[in-house]
Amino acid sequence: MSKPNLLISECLCGVCCRYDGDHNRIECLEELKNVYNLVPVCPEVLGGLLTPRPPAERVGNRVLTRDGIDVTEQFKRGAALALAIAIEKNCRCALLKSKSPSCGYGELYDGTFTRTLVKGVGVTSELLLQHDIQIYTEKNVAALITQNSDD
Ligand code: SF4
Repeated sequence: MSKPNLLISECLCGVCCRYDGDHNRIECLEELKNVYNLVPVCPEVLGGLLTPRPPAERVGNRVLTRDGIDVTEQFKRGAALALAIAIEKNCRCALLKSKSPSCGYGELYDGTFTRTLVKGVGVTSELLLQHDIQIYTEKNVAALITQNSDD
């Protein structure tokens, strides 16, 4: 049986696309590749932002850098492009980086740049959820692997 496609935050694949030029490679990447075809996306880069770039956090419906620059439009553009790729590739699930203002799911930094967490979802996660794409993060990736291994 062919493997399903899985949208995945590119930084979780070891690509240095994080705001600080680093990555968040997950240890079980090879295991994940055994059961899914990975479709990596970095919404912030897709939206036109450079790497490295100033850190940004969600403040209500806007996304601002620590210096107060409004990057909402870039975040929205990146989310729309990530969604378009997910639809084109028929990805019904996405594995996204927790806490990111784009990819976060469940909890986010609160917009004060004090590493204070509040309930919330990133701009891309929000859009994917609106299109019935199920979101996982690196925290419950084991469930994602098991789910498909059992199919
Ligand atoms: Fe990773 Fe998403 Fe941030 Fe890109 S936007 S660096 S994929 S968490």
